[in-house]
Amino acid sequence: MASADVVIIGGGITGLTAAYEAHRRGVRPIVLEASPRTGGLIATEHVDGFTIEAGPDSILAQKRAALDLVRELGLGDQILQVRPPGGAFVLSGSRLFRLPSPSRLGLPLTWRALAGYNLLPWPARVRMAMEPLVRARRSQDDESIGSFFRRRFGASTVDLIAQPLLGGIHAGDIERLSMRALFPRLLDAEQSRGRVLEMRGADAADPQQPPADVGFRSLRDGMSALVRAIEQHLPETSIRRSSPADRLERTASGWRVASGGDAFEARAVIVAAPAFVAARLFAPLDDEASRLCAEVPYVSTASVALAWPRPAIAHPLAGTGFVVARRVSDVRITACTWVSSKWTHRAPDDVALLRAFIGGAHDPGVVDLDDEEIARIARTDLQRVLGIGAAPVLTRVYRWRNAGAQHQVGQLARVAAIEGRLARHPGLLVAGSGFRSVGIPDCIADARAAAARCTIAG
Ligand SMILES: Cc1cc2nc3c(=O)[nH]c(=O)nc-3n(C[C@H](O)[C@H](O)[C@H](O)COP(=O)(O)OP(=O)(O)OC[C@H]3O[C@@H](n4cnc5c(N)ncnc54)[C@H](O)[C@@H]3O)c2cc1C
Repeated sequence: MASADVVIIGGGITGLTAAYEAHRRGVRPIVLEASPRTGGLIATEHVDGFTIEAGPDSILAQKRAALDLVRELGLGDQILQVRPPGGAFVLSGSRLFRLPSPSRLGLPLTWRALAGYNLLPWPARVRMAMEPLVRARRSQDDESIGSFFRRRFGASTVDLIAQPLLGGIHAGDIERLSMRALFPRLLDAEQSRGRVLEMRGADAADPQQPPADVGFRSLRDGMSALVRAIEQHLPETSIRRSSPADRLERTASGWRVASGGDAFEARAVIVAAPAFVAARLFAPLDDEASRLCAEVPYVSTASVALAWPRPAIAHPLAGTGFVVARRVSDVRITACTWVSSKWTHRAPDDVALLRAFIGGAHDPGVVDLDDEEIARIARTDLQRVLGIGAAPVLTRVYRWRNAGAQHQVGQLARVAAIEGRLARHPGLLVAGSGFRSVGIPDCIADARAAAARCTIAG
C-alpha cells in the first residue's frame, strides 16, 4: 500500500499538470497512468530528421494557461510561432478556397473580406452580411453549432464553414456539438451585442503580422517536450506507468484506489482520465455521477504523417493547411496540416511534411482498417488535392481510439451535475478533456484549479 496526499488517475497533460501543481503547493501526488507511456494524446516522434506529432501540435495563445506553464517550466525559448503566411483553406468540390483575411473561425472581420469570400456563393455572402440584422435569440439554453450558424449566418454556412472549421477541430457532428461548451464567445457576442460579426476598418488587421498574444504556438522539440518538462519537476516515484486505476473506494480518512494488485491511499483523488473511465470508477459509489459521465461520447480518429520531396508537390503550400467541407467534397480525409509550411524544424530541407486526419463522428469505422489502408486513403486524397505525382518518402499512421471527447449540447450542464454529485464525496474531483476542458490550455487551467482545491481541502 502506497500513500500520498492526492492520487491522480490519468497521466495525460491534465493529470501531469495536476501533479505538478500539487507538488508545487507541497501536496504529495501519485499519478496512475494506464499505459506504459505518459502524455495521453500528446505524443511526438523524432524520426529521420522529422519531428512528427501524433496528436496535438499547437497551443492557442489567447488562452494563456499553456504558454504560462511552458515559460514557468523553462521552455520559453522553445516556443515557435506559426510562420506567415498563416492562412488556411477549405476544400469544396475539388478546389481549395483560401479563407478570407482577416477572419476568425471562418467569420470575416472586414466587409472587404466578406465580399471576397469566394468559398461562399454570392447569395450566401449577402445572407451573411445581414447577420447583424438577425434578431438575437432570447433563450440562454445551449444550442448546437449547426443550429447557431443556420440561424445567424444562413444555411450555406453550415456545410461550408461550421462543419469543416468548427466541427472539424473536434472531429464531431455540428448538429450535436455544443456552442456553449465549445464557442461561448460567439454565443456571448449574440447575447451582449445582438450580433456576432465584428467588422473592423478595412486596414485594421495585417494578416502577415498577427498580434503577439493571438494565434497558435508550438514547441521546437514537439509537444512531448512539455510532458517531459513537467515530469522533470516531479519526484520520480510519483508517476506509476502501466498502472490502470480499476477500483475506487472510500476509506475512513479519504480514498483508496486499486490498480492491479497495488493500492494507493490519499485524502483526495482527481480523475483526469476519459469520462467513460470515470463512469466505471464511480459506478459502485454513485449511480447518478456514473450515468452522467457515461453520457459523454467519444470519437475515434487517426492522423497520418506523410512527406514528399518539395518539388513533387504541385501546390505552393502557402498556408497552414486545409479542412474538408464533407458534404460537398468526395475525399475521405477530414483535414490536412501543412506541417513544414507552418513550423520550422519539423522536416529536412526541401521535404514537405503533411499531416492528414481521418475518422471522427462521420466515419467511425475507418480506424479499424489496417495501417496500410488508412495510409493509402490519406495518400490518394492528398495526391489528388495537392497534385502530387511521386510516392511519399515517409508514412506514419497514428490511431486514437475513443480519444476525442464530444462536448455535445448540454455538456456544461452535465458537468455541473457531475460536480454536484461529487460534492457528496469530499476529495473526489474530475478534470480534463472529458469534462470542462477544450484543448491543452483549458486542460492545464482545469488541472491547476483541481490541484489547488485539493490543497485547500487539506
Ligand atoms: C489528433 C488530435 C489532435 C489534437 N490537436 C490539438 C491541438 O493542436 N491543440 C490542442 O490544444 N488540443 C488538441 N487536441 C486535444 C488535446 O489533445 C486534448 O484536449 C488533451 O491532450 C487532453 O488531455 P487529457 O489529459 O485531458 O486527456 P488524455 O490525453 O486523453 O489523457 C488521459 C490519460 O488517462 C489514461 N487512462 C485511461 N484510463 C485510465 C485508468 N483506468 N487509469 C489510469 N489512467 C487511465 C490514458 O491512458 C491517458 O494517458 C487534439 C486531440 C487529438 C486527438
